[in-house]
Amino acid sequence: MNPRLVIAIDGHSSTGKGTFAVEIARRLGILYLDSGALYRTVTLYALQHGQIEWNGTIQERQLQEDLLLGRVEIAVRPKSDGSMLVFLDGHDVSARIRELEVARNVSAIATLPFVRNFVDGQLHRLGKEGCVMDGRDIGTAVFPDADLKIFMTADASIRAARRVKQMEEAGKHADFEEILKNVQERDYIDSHRAMNPLRQAEDALVLDNSHMTVEDQMVWLDGILRERFGFGLS
Ligand code: C5P
Repeated sequence: MNPRLVIAIDGHSSTGKGTFAVEIARRLGILYLDSGALYRTVTLYALQHGQIEWNGTIQERQLQEDLLLGRVEIAVRPKSDGSMLVFLDGHDVSARIRELEVARNVSAIATLPFVRNFVDGQLHRLGKEGCVMDGRDIGTAVFPDADLKIFMTADASIRAARRVKQMEEAGKHADFEEILKNVQERDYIDSHRAMNPLRQAEDALVLDNSHMTVEDQMVWLDGILRERFGFGLS
């Protein structure tokens, strides 16, 4: 099945939006679009072109010109597991955009209005035929008329504990208190940004997954799809 639905998933950081969205894409056979990956790709472009100085200052005029003149070529390709590959100027940058240098600069890049406009345009172009998209402002700003909007949240301490577990599994040291502080700070920054801050759309369904597994979340969604659209997850 390939329903032409647009499903918008927003929410706090570390609530498992990506995992949830990829699983939906895989089960429904629709395109998954990771909006954060596009902000990361623009950040990588700026880094590769010397537009972010050592102290974090961004050469905004240069970056804006490149975006406006179509010099930043971004493409995506779905993988069979539901996730997405992203290409910059024809090169697969899916792994590079997860590197620390990109992570350090992406939030500053994502606050620039001309970057947000560029990414919104790309998301529209890529997703208009149907997709499940995750981010912070999808249901409020990017696709305000999405067929289904979900707002994900979970207790901050549970999200922090999940991140500690992920880091420990990856063999990294993790301090719970430090991570909890970071989760709370990111919630604050995302919710207080001037342009398109994180907020729950009025018509969004809230999914608090504090005490839910991914499978529990699929059962929840299956019920909603059946009720609203007359089909469920296969
Ligand atoms: O989701 P991810 O961590 O990959 O997103 C990277 C960054 O991009 C976020 O920390 C946030 O600053 C920004 N972002 C955004 N709006 C979105 C998605 C991501 O501002 N819709």
